[in-house]
Amino acid sequence: MQTMMEAIKAAAKEMQGEMVSCRRDIHKHPEPGWTEFRTASLVAERLSALGYELKIGEEAIDRQTMMGVPSQEKLAEEMERAAKEGAKKEWLAQMTGGLTGIVATKKFSEGGPVVALRFDMDSNDVRESESPDHFPTQEGFRSLHDQAMHACGHDGHTTVGLAVAKILAALQDKLKGTIKLVFQPAEEGVRGAKAMVENGDVDDVNYMLGAHFGFQMKHTGTIACNVTGFLATSKYDIHFVGKPAHAGAAPEQGKNALLAAACASLNLHAIPRHSQGASRINVGKLIAGSGRNVIADKAFMVIETRGASSEINAFMEQEALRVIKAAAAMYDVEVQVEKTGGAAGGSNSPELAAFLEARAKELNIFKQVAGHCDFGASEDFSYFMERVQSHGGKAAYMMIGADLAAGHHDSSFDFDETALGYAANMLAYSAASLLLQGEKL
Ligand SMILES: [Zn+2]
Ligand SMILES: [Zn+2]
Repeated sequence: MQTMMEAIKAAAKEMQGEMVSCRRDIHKHPEPGWTEFRTASLVAERLSALGYELKIGEEAIDRQTMMGVPSQEKLAEEMERAAKEGAKKEWLAQMTGGLTGIVATKKFSEGGPVVALRFDMDSNDVRESESPDHFPTQEGFRSLHDQAMHACGHDGHTTVGLAVAKILAALQDKLKGTIKLVFQPAEEGVRGAKAMVENGDVDDVNYMLGAHFGFQMKHTGTIACNVTGFLATSKYDIHFVGKPAHAGAAPEQGKNALLAAACASLNLHAIPRHSQGASRINVGKLIAGSGRNVIADKAFMVIETRGASSEINAFMEQEALRVIKAAAAMYDVEVQVEKTGGAAGGSNSPELAAFLEARAKELNIFKQVAGHCDFGASEDFSYFMERVQSHGGKAAYMMIGADLAAGHHDSSFDFDETALGYAANMLAYSAASLLLQGEKL
């Protein structure tokens, strides 16, 4: 009799062609954070056909904690485009305002564990390469949308999510517990996860898995299951508003926003480093003033803080906000502070990481199962991880190797499509094993 593992391997193999065309279709129609209208409609369409129970829009997303949402005009424009590109009205209607998250659930039995998998769907603000050497150009699936490109592999993640959904649905008579597939908007800029976590989407989850193609695993057939060192981060847009005045005739009547921003910049970088772990701050952009002979009445700054833990990042964030307000007070200008993104710190639950490593070896498809892998960057999967771990569940993030044509977010980024099969195998088999494992590892 065919084992569960053999059944999953056979299904993933059979679906390779289907995955490639799905990935190319999504790649061709990239949608940046909170505008994944077409992508999410596709997900909704496929998953409802497979008998998953869906939560979409307001049922999946907490409106109050959405960060870095595009303007209403932009949202309306992108939604209209999605409709033109085949997204069904019944799904789109539920996503008005950028509520493009989906939680798809299937209950295999009463009781048993709740296992969740998270897949991100958004693209990057990058114009895709037109070079004849670029594989998507060669194969005719280069982005149709100007200034938008899947340059991080989330087209692959969404594709794998759909494949895993199909594999698990086909095995439903053999599985126990409940599977939850979380399709997340706006991972880029770490904007989307919080709104799903705050909505309570993973409050009942015992085990949660996330994965990303590439990063430290740069070759197809490799995998890392023990990922630690997610940096907590906060992103802010800062507007200083002063008062313009003639720089020669009446400088004393002005309120200088440029000097407030410049003063803030230097002092933000002077925040002391933290003794308990890595801490970072960056003023990445500063635009100020209007003309040579005008006291500058406006300044705009984008900044970020990071920390080895949520606590260290909170220290950096509070100090940063204090410095910004103090600089504004010093120059007697107004300041508006907008939080546009954030992620928690954290690390994989060690027991779950070990469980996954054992499953990866058992599958016997990987050339290399890497040991410990330090992430050293930010990913908002960490919000899911933090919430699941905080109520006694276990969470882990994997890096699934893929040969890359260029680094993440590069206009020539592309990943080897055979990696789709490795990811589908690993995620389906891990989820099935956890569902059958019960509530204790
Ligand atoms: Zn990215
Ligand atoms: Zn990414």
